[in-house]
Amino acid sequence: MATVNLPRLKELFLDLVRIDSLSRRERDVAQRLVRELESAGLRCRFDTAADKVRGNCSNLIAYLDGNREGIAPLLLCAHMDTVVPGEGVKPVVEGDIIRTDGTTVLGGDDKSGCAIICEVLHQLREQDIAHGPIEAVFTVCEELGLQGARNLDLGLLQAREGLVFDSDSPGYLFVRQAGAYGLRFTVRGLEAHAGMAPERGLSAIKVAAEAIAAMRLGRIDEETTANLGTIEGGRAGNVVPNEVTVRGEARSTDPRKLEAQVEHMIACFKDAVARAAVTVDGKLINAQLEYKSVPSYKAMNVPEDAPIVRKVLEAARRLGCEVRPHATGGGCDANILNQRGFVVANLGTGMRDIHTVREWLDVRDMAATAEVTLELIRVHAGA
Ligand SMILES: [Zn+2]
Repeated sequence: MATVNLPRLKELFLDLVRIDSLSRRERDVAQRLVRELESAGLRCRFDTAADKVRGNCSNLIAYLDGNREGIAPLLLCAHMDTVVPGEGVKPVVEGDIIRTDGTTVLGGDDKSGCAIICEVLHQLREQDIAHGPIEAVFTVCEELGLQGARNLDLGLLQAREGLVFDSDSPGYLFVRQAGAYGLRFTVRGLEAHAGMAPERGLSAIKVAAEAIAAMRLGRIDEETTANLGTIEGGRAGNVVPNEVTVRGEARSTDPRKLEAQVEHMIACFKDAVARAAVTVDGKLINAQLEYKSVPSYKAMNVPEDAPIVRKVLEAARRLGCEVRPHATGGGCDANILNQRGFVVANLGTGMRDIHTVREWLDVRDMAATAEVTLELIRVHAGA
């Protein structure tokens, strides 16, 4: 059984999290990765995604030639960008547990994935493990609507199957991930002086509140969630507000449930707006609704008998560790890659409480994922 170099994995991870890499600003961390990858014998190049995402860095692609003939190329993918607050990360190390100092995220999402891939690549060479061509892809702007993966130059890749490393428990292989819609509703009413002539106004905030109060939100069922995350509107406490905009989203691993939830949210606004009217100077004035629902990305659904899934499960079985296929409401580059013709599943890395300033991670979880990945490469090579 392969044994990863845990101190090296930890050091690289700490190095990576100390380098700022908010979305569109991934250049420094990419350069650190290039150094690491070249030292593991890979050739690195960038595509041209930077222009399209208006960032300072493109997707990084690193190539390792196979050391045996006749093995299909394998894709390993993680993203380089992190969410806010993510600048000036000062990791706190307690043995193998790494936390934030409470002022920023840790960036284990997804530098854990980046570090795991690098360690796997080092091991391939050091242990002379049989492998086919490996294509390691480090994307930009994952946290910005998966823009890096959307703009990834597929002409630079031969692989058609592989793994994304971008979720929490190393015991989970995500094969089904939610699709999502972004939603925006603008309700228009009628402005009026709140004290002198409220009867000449129509409160857009009140109408929106009625729509929201009637709405199913939060966890809808096992596969479906919905949220309204921002509300903006009104001018002052003494003005009946004539406009309010509410933004949110819906997600589901089941496309029909997703459509149904989006329709429900739209219907709530339509109903509340239809009921709202005021008569001013003998003229009936109705509230107005403008809305937009945009699919953010499609649900991902990799069959559990897909070769990549079977190979990961076989690798875990050989190592005597448990990895189970799983579904999640989160979305990641894997959604886009599957949409774009790859078959990729998403293996957990150990990142925890991500997108919060309480983010932490256990390096032993990262090591476990690296072990499973090395074994997967062996299984894939027929070794
Ligand atoms: Zn991520």
